[in-house]
Amino acid sequence: MDEYLASHLDGLRGQNLFRELRRVDSPQSSRIQMEGRTFVNFSSNDYLGLANHAVLKEAGIKAIEEFGAGAGASRLVCGSLAPFHELEETIAAFKKTEGALAFSTGYAAAVGTICALLDTRDVIVLDKLVHASIVDAAKLCGATLRIFAHNDLNELEARLKWAANRQSRALIVTESIFSMDGDAAPLRDIVALKEKFGAWLMVDEAHATGVRGHGGRGLADELGVAGAIELQMGTLGKALGAGGGYLCGSRTLIDFLVNRARSFIFSTAPVPAAAAAATAAIGLVESDDGAARRERLWKRIAEARQAIQRFGRLGESGSRETSGAIFPMICGDEAAALAAAAALRERNIYVPAIRFPAVARGKARLRITVTAEHTPEDIQALADALKAAGKIF
Ligand SMILES: *Cc1c(COP(=O)(O)O)cnc(C)c1O
Repeated sequence: MDEYLASHLDGLRGQNLFRELRRVDSPQSSRIQMEGRTFVNFSSNDYLGLANHAVLKEAGIKAIEEFGAGAGASRLVCGSLAPFHELEETIAAFKKTEGALAFSTGYAAAVGTICALLDTRDVIVLDKLVHASIVDAAKLCGATLRIFAHNDLNELEARLKWAANRQSRALIVTESIFSMDGDAAPLRDIVALKEKFGAWLMVDEAHATGVRGHGGRGLADELGVAGAIELQMGTLGKALGAGGGYLCGSRTLIDFLVNRARSFIFSTAPVPAAAAAATAAIGLVESDDGAARRERLWKRIAEARQAIQRFGRLGESGSRETSGAIFPMICGDEAAALAAAAALRERNIYVPAIRFPAVARGKARLRITVTAEHTPEDIQALADALKAAGKIF
């Protein structure tokens, strides 16, 4: 077996697609330690700097003391620990939905929800750039898969028309802020199309929750369309600084998922500490501290945009406005992206080279993310490093 696997890995190395884990000997924050060196970290999705926040850590420790380290079984089997109920009530109140269900990860939320809702009679319509968890769910659920070009409303309408002619139920899935390009979906127009064709809509707010909208509720809230979206999904592991995934919507939807979402039913509940930390995070995100963190984050985003635009191409359509904390610097060639990331590491800046299959082949990029924990000096250090490494871009 190892011989077979090694030849596969050699193939990946030959295409500059080999990946390695880099051990970090510090918490996730704007600074990380690797191999005895300290890097300014522009790679994390911990946009508000909550992953290492005292309030989350205390909530996690308290939950361990009260409820132990592990959950024991699936919540349907051995009873459902109080921290999960507190978390779900908090998420539903935060997102202003009737209910919410917590999953062990965002990935599990996507797979569990989509596979519970759809089968071979249905059509699933995806934006070309949706996250792998949604692509995997779409393949697994057995529905007919239709893709529309990224944020292309004409193509979306054509796909919905096609599904309506077939008299199939259609579910549209998109992200609000796209994970690898950082741009926003035209959610108001998508909602109008969904209503025109009677389709269902699922929006993944993984990179908008905590960052966009009043109190950090997300982009759907900011655009005033949250109430029209049947399925609002997200993760507790990015701006919320903890771990886990959620799905919110109607009470009936949540009851249905408890009965039908296999990634929820057939999986041990997450550790209670994760739920308690996420509950604390939502409280923090909605508080004055959360608002101050968002304000700092948006200052850093503006500074980073200025710095980065001078050195590279932002996203597929060039230097457009970034809608959140994600700045893709398109390198194209996989080797070029690796070389650029290595050049920045030489200057103590840690940025990941994102390559296939996270993005299409030939669309490799540096993915720079800024957080509320970065200082103006950090952004300047990034700009200086990009300038010094400039010949690569
Ligand atoms: C990270 C991510 C997920 C998965 O969430 P996890 O909690 O990390 O499993 C889903 N969708 C998008 C857009 C993501 O970026």
